[in-house]
Amino acid sequence: MSKVVKFGGSSLASAEQFRKVGDIVRGDKERRYVVPSAPGKRFQKDTKVTDMLYACYGLAETDKEFGKELSAIADRYQEIIDGLHLTLNLDGEFEKIGNAFRAKAGSDYAASRGEYLNGIIMADYLGFEFIDAVEVICFDGQGIFDPEKTNEMLSARLAGCGNAVIPGFYGAMPDGKVKTFSRGGSDITGSLVAKAAQADVYENWTDVSGFLVADPGIIKNPRRIDVITYRELRELSYMGATVLHEDAIFPVRQEGIPINIRNTNEPENSGTWIVGSTCQRSRYVITGIAGKRGFCCVNIEKDMMNTEIGFGRKVLEAFEENGISFEHVPSGIDTMTVFVHQDEFMDKEQKVAACLYRKAKPDAIEIEADLALIAVVGRGMKSTRGTAGRIFSALAHANVNVKMIDQGSSELNIIIGVTNDDFETAIKAIYDIFVLTNL
Ligand code: ASP
Repeated sequence: MSKVVKFGGSSLASAEQFRKVGDIVRGDKERRYVVPSAPGKRFQKDTKVTDMLYACYGLAETDKEFGKELSAIADRYQEIIDGLHLTLNLDGEFEKIGNAFRAKAGSDYAASRGEYLNGIIMADYLGFEFIDAVEVICFDGQGIFDPEKTNEMLSARLAGCGNAVIPGFYGAMPDGKVKTFSRGGSDITGSLVAKAAQADVYENWTDVSGFLVADPGIIKNPRRIDVITYRELRELSYMGATVLHEDAIFPVRQEGIPINIRNTNEPENSGTWIVGSTCQRSRYVITGIAGKRGFCCVNIEKDMMNTEIGFGRKVLEAFEENGISFEHVPSGIDTMTVFVHQDEFMDKEQKVAACLYRKAKPDAIEIEADLALIAVVGRGMKSTRGTAGRIFSALAHANVNVKMIDQGSSELNIIIGVTNDDFETAIKAIYDIFVLTNL
């Protein structure tokens, strides 16, 4: 059995955190491959090393002096090395980085050094082999990630290696140029390593004990989700619940490898399991609630719309031609409503309206702003009668007016539109009825 363990930035921000990580890895010899992020924040107002590197390179790129900023980064690593009583010396590495910055090696190269250096320290501390991600995480000549080549290179390299540290977040293009994933991308590296190693589990260690049923910013001490399916997770993360990088799911999902989200500061907590499918029922009918503010709806009215073939296409074309993606399209007999992101739509609203009049010839168009969408997600809803009924009676009791309802036929998800002002009240009411009352 083998486990791939990825540690996020806050789990590696200081020597003290490194020690916790060391105990976790050494505590289970199946934890064979370690993927570290760069050091994150040690306290709330602190700066992540990745952000320090971007800022420092920004100076180098515009031919400004960056020595002070680079030594502040070196100090962050030195503090960890000293705290762990290692004899490692990174002076040579920092000299190379300084030279590469002067030669304008690129901001991806700059940012990647955060994980690279943390990987070197971690390998030294654990006594594991260090595998530089440029050897095994492959991007093509255009900088697009190449999953086949990566899997080939990584599995060949890991086959001959019992234990290793592979830094997260970056890889290289065929000419050797460093390329990073988008922010938070070490989660993707962890998933790729788990796939290539054919691991039994991908453990993703962070600073929360897994996914919560609702946003702790809205609900005080929300319950933790024990088991969630990939599909449920996708619905919730799309609606704003973030713990894991979205693209980290695909590599392990294809291989049926479960992800276990764990808390470095609370290692005895079993965290959340993300699985393909499960016969374990969630503790409540719903698995989670997530939502976002800041939507607009465009209501398009036309008598006899139901008899006009192609009306929907013409409406959606008006949005497409203006580069606006839509979220939901509930419709009635003579109306069609399109939900869009307010910040994307605002500047283009009159252009879109004109385009709608030209193409679809509606009787009227009405735009309403400041709306929020809430997703109530749960595999348990499929087999339970009355879920929608309970949601709407809870909302009615809380005096929340429902603007829109959308339930996909998968019955995994009910989307509700309310005003921005009602957003938190609505989430509280739904959480109360399903989790606290748990009727
Ligand atoms: N260090 C990178 C970031 O801050 C990548 C990661 O942590 O996953 O985005």
